[in-house]
Amino acid sequence: MIQLSEVRKNYGTYEVLKGINAEVGRGEVVVICGPSGSGKSTLIRTVNRLEEIQSGSITCEGNNIHRQMAARELNRLRSRIGFVFQSFNLFPHLSAIDNIAMSPIRVKGVAREEAYRKATQLLERVGLADKAQMFPGQLSGGQQQRVAIARALAMEPPVMLFDEPTSALDPEMVGEVLAVMKSLASDGMTMMCVTHEMGFARDVADRVWFIDDGQIIETAPPEDFFSNPQTGRAKRFLSDLR
Ligand code: ATP
Ligand code: MG
Repeated sequence: MIQLSEVRKNYGTYEVLKGINAEVGRGEVVVICGPSGSGKSTLIRTVNRLEEIQSGSITCEGNNIHRQMAARELNRLRSRIGFVFQSFNLFPHLSAIDNIAMSPIRVKGVAREEAYRKATQLLERVGLADKAQMFPGQLSGGQQQRVAIARALAMEPPVMLFDEPTSALDPEMVGEVLAVMKSLASDGMTMMCVTHEMGFARDVADRVWFIDDGQIIETAPPEDFFSNPQTGRAKRFLSDLR
């Protein structure tokens, strides 16, 4: 589904991604973890081209994400890859339901009635049916993040990317967001998640990628990664978490 091959990225002379080779299968849930500054956000942002790369290739469903293309085509391609950020990034002047319905109408040309019908279903799906008319400022962080997930899902992306979706939340709201992600995973969504929630990784991930200093130095099913990390770096990372 997603293939990364020899992906290199630098900021000036600083090389952030040092030749990433990896693959995400259809329906697979990958959790990306590693120390701060190791390149996790940069990596996930290259997948929908929020960051350019210097060399290598990334394909999604056979589409080369980093090929030359017109802005319009790039927008369309991006809208096929859902992205949920640490900060909720909702449009503050739009209600929850308007946030969700906007892109399908504007980008995909979906009829208004259809877009709002679908948005209502998505609000139900994330447990916020009663908040449709609320503005982001009237919602809790956990509720805003669930709206953000619903907004991404409205474009019917085959893949969802998450960059620390729960790390800006008060602890009591983390669970409600993880529950939505868990339900997406069990519905077969292909997901790449940067997260420090190791409980989520254990329960939901098919594979864990451990990144250190711009390279994926371990990939393993969570049960193996957590019980038997292969590198000193991963061992230290895991023991620092405890
Ligand atoms: P964290 O766990 O703290 O979120 P991360 O693994 O997501 O860290 P990145 O944000 O990908 O790390 O950053 C990787 C490296 O690239 C860091 O050393 C960072 O300082 C550097 N970096 C990130 N963005 C930029 C930028 N726009 N310009 C220059 N350097 C950058
Ligand atoms: Mg990051």
